[in-house]
Amino acid sequence: MEDFSFEARVLNTPYEKADVYHSLSMPVYNTAAYEFDSAEDMEAAFCGRTTDHAYSRITNPTVQYFEDRIRMITGAMGVTALNSGMAAISNTLMAIAYSGANIVTSRHLFGNTYSFLLNTLGAFGVETRFCDLTNPAEVRKHVDQNTCAIFLEVITNPQMEVADLKALSTIGKEAGVPLIADTTVVPFNIFKAVTFGVDIEIVSSTKYISGGATSTGGLILDYGTFDWSNSARLKDVSALVGSQKAFTFKMRKEIHRNLGAYMTPQVAYMQTLGIETMSIRFERQAATCLELAKELQELENIESVNYTGLPGNPYYDISTSQFGPLPGAMLTFNLASREACFAFMNKLKLIRRATNLFDNKTLAIHPASTIYGTFTEQQRVAMDVDSKTIRLSVGLETVNDLLTDIKQALP
Ligand SMILES: *Cc1c(COP(=O)(O)O)cnc(C)c1O
Repeated sequence: MEDFSFEARVLNTPYEKADVYHSLSMPVYNTAAYEFDSAEDMEAAFCGRTTDHAYSRITNPTVQYFEDRIRMITGAMGVTALNSGMAAISNTLMAIAYSGANIVTSRHLFGNTYSFLLNTLGAFGVETRFCDLTNPAEVRKHVDQNTCAIFLEVITNPQMEVADLKALSTIGKEAGVPLIADTTVVPFNIFKAVTFGVDIEIVSSTKYISGGATSTGGLILDYGTFDWSNSARLKDVSALVGSQKAFTFKMRKEIHRNLGAYMTPQVAYMQTLGIETMSIRFERQAATCLELAKELQELENIESVNYTGLPGNPYYDISTSQFGPLPGAMLTFNLASREACFAFMNKLKLIRRATNLFDNKTLAIHPASTIYGTFTEQQRVAMDVDSKTIRLSVGLETVNDLLTDIKQALP
C-alpha cells in the first residue's frame, strides 16, 4: 500500500482480521466486552501475550481500524484514538510530565489547552514556560534538564503565528526533549509532521477528519523518532520495550486505560467515513479560503486580513515551506471595534454563528468574547487575542455566496 497515493491508501486500508460476513466497510462493534474460549486464552489476552480484545475502554475493533487507517496514511508507528482533541492533549502530557517538570510552549494556545497546562497540570507541580516559539534563542533559554516537552500548535488560532518546526526540533534534539505538535489546523494530506522533526503529533479529529462536525475525537500519533531512555517518566519502560517504543507502550498499557477517554465505536465509524473524503473537502475549503482572503483585503471596512497563505503575510514563507500554498481553511479579519464585530456577527444570514473549525458549513466567531470570554483582559492581551478580530472557518459554499453574505453584514 505504501506505493499508492494518500487517497488510495485512506480508502483501502485492509482490516486486521477478515470480517466473518465480508462486510465492505468496517462494522460498528457496539460492545463493551469480548468473550473467550478458555481461561488460558483469557489469561493470554489480559497479560498482553495476544492482541485479542478484552474490554472497549482499552481496545475495540472499529476504533482499531480507524487507528490502522491513520497509521497507513501517516506512517506513524503508534496511533491512539481518543474521544476529543483535549483527551489526546491531556493523555499525551500526563504520560511524560511529572512534579518538578516543565513544558515549554507559547501563550498562543487553544483556550482549553492553555487552561489544562496552567490550572490542571499546574496543580500537580508541572510548570508551563510561555515564550515566543518563533524566536529560537528565547526557546533555548527556557529549556533545561527538567523540560519534558516543547509543545506548540502549528498555526496558532486566532493569532495565526507559525513557528519554524525544524528549528524547534533541533533545539529539542540537542536538549533531549521531544517536539510535540498540535496539527489540527492542517490535515495529513498536505502536512507531513514527521519530516519537520515532530516526534508526537496531536490532532483534534473533531475538525477536518470527522467529515462535517459529526463527532468529537482526538488522535495521538507517535512516529517512533524520539529516544525516551533519558526521560524521567519513560526510562523504565524504555529499558523494558526499547527507547523508541516506550511512549506508545506506556500510553496503551497505562495512561489511556487509566484516564478512560478511548474513542467509542460509533465515533470511529463516523470518522473513518469522514477521513475518506477529507482531502477533497480540504482542497475545496482551503482554495475558497485563499480566494476569500484575497477578496476581503479589497473591502473598505475590513482593517486587516490574516491568512498565512496570503503573499505579504509575515509568516508566508515559513508557512508555505511547511504547509504548501493552502495552509488550512481558517482566516481572521479585523474590523474597527468590538462593537463593529458584534454588529457584523448579528447581520450574517448564511454564515453560521458557531464555534468549531472545518465543518462543511462556514462558521464565524468573535474569539475574544467567546473562547476567551472568561479570561481576564490581561490574559487576552498576553495571548494577543484582539477584541476587533472575527474568525472564519471556511466551508464548502462558493466564494461568491460567502462574499455576498460578508458584504451585506459589514457596516
Ligand atoms: C478544537 C481544537 C482542540 C480541542 O479539540 P476537541 O476535539 O474540541 O477537544 C485542540 N487544539 C486545536 C488547535 C483545536 O482547534
